[in-house]
Amino acid sequence: MTFERENVRRMAGYVPGEQPRRAVAKLNTNENPFPPCDAVLATLAGIDGEMLRRYPDPTAWGFRTAAARLHGLTPDHIVATNGGDELLRLALTTFLPPGAPLGLAEPSYSLYPVLAAVHDSPLCPVPLADDWSVPADIARQWNRAGARLAILVNPHAPSGRLTAAQELAEVARTFKGVLVIDEAYIDFVDPGIAHDTIALVREADNVLLLRTMSKGYSLAGLRLGYGIGSPGLVSPMLSKTKDSYNVDVVAQRVGETALRHNWEAAERWAFVREERSRMARELSVRGLICAPSQANFLLATMTSRPPGTARRLLRELADEGIFVRWFDQERLRDSLRISLGRAAENDALLAAFDRLLPQPS
Ligand SMILES: *Cc1c(COP(=O)(O)O)cnc(C)c1O
Repeated sequence: MTFERENVRRMAGYVPGEQPRRAVAKLNTNENPFPPCDAVLATLAGIDGEMLRRYPDPTAWGFRTAAARLHGLTPDHIVATNGGDELLRLALTTFLPPGAPLGLAEPSYSLYPVLAAVHDSPLCPVPLADDWSVPADIARQWNRAGARLAILVNPHAPSGRLTAAQELAEVARTFKGVLVIDEAYIDFVDPGIAHDTIALVREADNVLLLRTMSKGYSLAGLRLGYGIGSPGLVSPMLSKTKDSYNVDVVAQRVGETALRHNWEAAERWAFVREERSRMARELSVRGLICAPSQANFLLATMTSRPPGTARRLLRELADEGIFVRWFDQERLRDSLRISLGRAAENDALLAAFDRLLPQPS
């Protein structure tokens, strides 16, 4: 006898990347390789028992004000969430009617279909082009299927490819539902690329941006993210569908400090970008071709090697304490997704490839 709802009984859960207790190089879950900045650690040390005794501010006013200031918006454009993942769940709860499909691009973050299954919603997955670009008619395909909510991850996961803001604006204009742009990796985009999606929020009332403190701000363990959208999109989540106290007092305080000191995090982003170029070069020398990435990871594809090589490498690297990610998914089985770590971790990975990979034939 099972008491689960039918859709829950049928579905498989999300499989998170491994969190090994010890690793030579942990390059499997796109965490920031550096600790949070000193100001953040000082705020954390200042949390006292009296703060914990009381309920947190249900609206996360201080954090939302800091986020609004950073983006040149007012706080009614911001909703704080228990990690970016909670914002995704809230978007389904708030904007996707029962029976309407969730629009997706394929492949992308494997949590999206899991959330749709929990919500008992069908999917409208549109395959990305060979270079992982978004097909020009994606919004029309979603509209035809009756999708009322769609999610695009940009920079794309797991390839790291960046879709230009103008292209996203066109998708948003054409799509008849709410477009979530999952910007989990936006902090790592080269500042030389003028990529302004905040302007999109000002122009389009159906665009909801996802931001997270997990990657850019080295706070994956804190569980804090936020949504940016027009007040009309944000308000029902703030006042109706989120848990009353969805973000705890520690996350609110620490997160506010992190945003107010964001230039310190930005120094780490610059380092990650340099390692990204270096690793893409070094990997290509070893016959692993990387899609152009604007994120803190590379999708490295095995060329001229027998099928199954990527999967074998995943295991052999793990035996050496080096953790990367492999996806048992169409179009991804010949690739490894490699998070950018500290220079020594990245070097350890390259040295392991030199030992484990025969020269390309
Ligand atoms: C990491 C990530 C998120 C959000 O993660 P949280 O830790 O819940 O903030 C959202 N989307 C993608 C694609 C991610 O990689």
